[in-house]
Amino acid sequence: MELKEYKLSDFVPEFFEFRQSDDLSRFGCENIEDNLIRLEKRGKIHFENRIAVCPSCKSHHIVKNGTYERKLIFLRIGEQKCIIQKYKCKKCGKVFYSDLSSLVYPNSNITLPVIDCIENLYQIYGAGLHKIRFNLKQQHNVEISHQSIENIILNSKYEFDYDNWYYSGYYLFDSLWTRINGVWQYILALFDVKLNTLVSTKLVKSEDSKTIYNFLNESLRNQKKISIGTDLKHEYREAIDKLKVKHHFCKFHVKQAINKRFKGYFDKNQLNEEEMEKFIDLKQHIFKILDANNLDEAKKLRDELIDKNYPKNKFTHKIVWKFIISYFKKLTTHLENNNIPSTNNKIENIFQKVFPKHIKRTMKIEQGLSSRFMLKLNHWNIKNEKEKNHTSF
Ligand SMILES: [Zn+2]
Repeated sequence: MELKEYKLSDFVPEFFEFRQSDDLSRFGCENIEDNLIRLEKRGKIHFENRIAVCPSCKSHHIVKNGTYERKLIFLRIGEQKCIIQKYKCKKCGKVFYSDLSSLVYPNSNITLPVIDCIENLYQIYGAGLHKIRFNLKQQHNVEISHQSIENIILNSKYEFDYDNWYYSGYYLFDSLWTRINGVWQYILALFDVKLNTLVSTKLVKSEDSKTIYNFLNESLRNQKKISIGTDLKHEYREAIDKLKVKHHFCKFHVKQAINKRFKGYFDKNQLNEEEMEKFIDLKQHIFKILDANNLDEAKKLRDELIDKNYPKNKFTHKIVWKFIISYFKKLTTHLENNNIPSTNNKIENIFQKVFPKHIKRTMKIEQGLSSRFMLKLNHWNIKNEKEKNHTSF
């Protein structure tokens, strides 16, 4: 005797169609169990069980007993009115519904693939609730409220820290230039120092202060804004001052710039040993201010610099008065508040990992640059998220 287990789909072609995995994934039902059948009848989605079992007495003697309507939200096809089969047990008389447990939680109308998707987006975007909502709508045709998304994440298996819902207020900003078809373009990136996550990235044609301002302003709408660290570009300075946020310079960039200025001066001017010593002493004094352990120490060193006997000329005036004294606050903000980093290393590390220099140079195609970059950044964020989880144990 030939033993073969027949399925309903072996007999009814209409049923068979929807068991195809690509059809299921097309409708956001890829993980529903075999016993749940999805049909389309008169343009409406219909769910029933392949084998219905009475939940009360476990009897298989079941008859169909009408239907009810239930709104469900799917990936790709969004909200749909679905027809759910009801059954009646012939043995004990209990009326029950199709078992939808592989598709949706009992008191929810959001299907499990949507919930998975939200959890994945949360891993990618971290605290960016509005981004998760936007991505759901744009990429998955799912429109649900902030509150629903928040509830899903709060109930998810991921540990969720409510304080982290919003960005910390402490950021680093940087841009990366790239030449695309002979035209310079800039990838702007904003990074949350405390959450260790990217807040926002954007590909733009110009690095002028208005573009930077708009990017920062949009990225931080309704978010805490305490401080932003950058390198020394004056466009950044103008944009951040306009935002009315504390702005701090990256100490590494400051030292690099000062070294460069001094070297340039030494190259152009023939100095005797004594003069040279005075200039080097001035530079070391400036570096001491930058490396001060606390604000009082930095202020004391600044006051000493004002009274200091160093060669007074255009060059030293520019460095001492136009830079160190004028921007003293931006140079020492990290001494006021432990949350503020002294350098921009964190965001630069990401750029280096995501976009090594050799890739930058060979980048020629405009299409897909932004999305490729975003994918890589997302990958970085996920990897980073995993590492964070590891170290917290
Ligand atoms: Zn029964």
